[in-house]
Amino acid sequence: TLMTLRENLEAAIRTIPDYPKPGVMFRDITTLLGDARAFRRSIDELVHPYAGTKIDKIAGVEARGFILGGAMSHQLSAGFVPIRKKGKLPHETVRIAYSLEYGVDEMEMHKDAVKKGERVILVDDLIATGGTAEGAVRLLHQMGAEVVAACFVIDLPDLGGRKKIEALGVPVRTLVEFP
Ligand code: AMP
Repeated sequence: TLMTLRENLEAAIRTIPDYPKPGVMFRDITTLLGDARAFRRSIDELVHPYAGTKIDKIAGVEARGFILGGAMSHQLSAGFVPIRKKGKLPHETVRIAYSLEYGVDEMEMHKDAVKKGERVILVDDLIATGGTAEGAVRLLHQMGAEVVAACFVIDLPDLGGRKKIEALGVPVRTLVEFP
């Protein structure tokens, strides 16, 4: 049968109920990454609006954002910037607290990872409440970057993350939605 891109990608994502805790439907992209066609099409779809435009850097959120961001960087001839949990980066960093479902955590980026005025695309596998992406956008803005877009394979629209990021003036691009 003919399947749309969205249906193809949706089928390539594995759902693990009650992981990491009861009530959570964990959307596992390792099955999508292991499917050559689904992986390629996801990357193609994420980058195509920016092909031929000047993108200086892709900033990926640890850890699944690294995998997607590396492939996007290659395709757009952009550099890659890792945004990591605190304490992992070896050089001078800028750090920001961000809200999780319960409580807060901190993420950081190297101070010299982006220059003022650079055009950056943020990427992670999934946006839920948007707390993680909001922290990453604020960190990039703090360093003077222009965040051209925030990209995610999966949106959980009921959790409101997209609106939170759009309120920061950053367009959001997602491929698949789960209720
Ligand atoms: P949030 O900050 O609430 O938008 O959560 C997004 C971050 O948590 C991303 O880095 C996701 O990888 C992870 N995450 C949150 N909810 C899920 C879920 N249901 N399945 C897989 N990953 C999730």
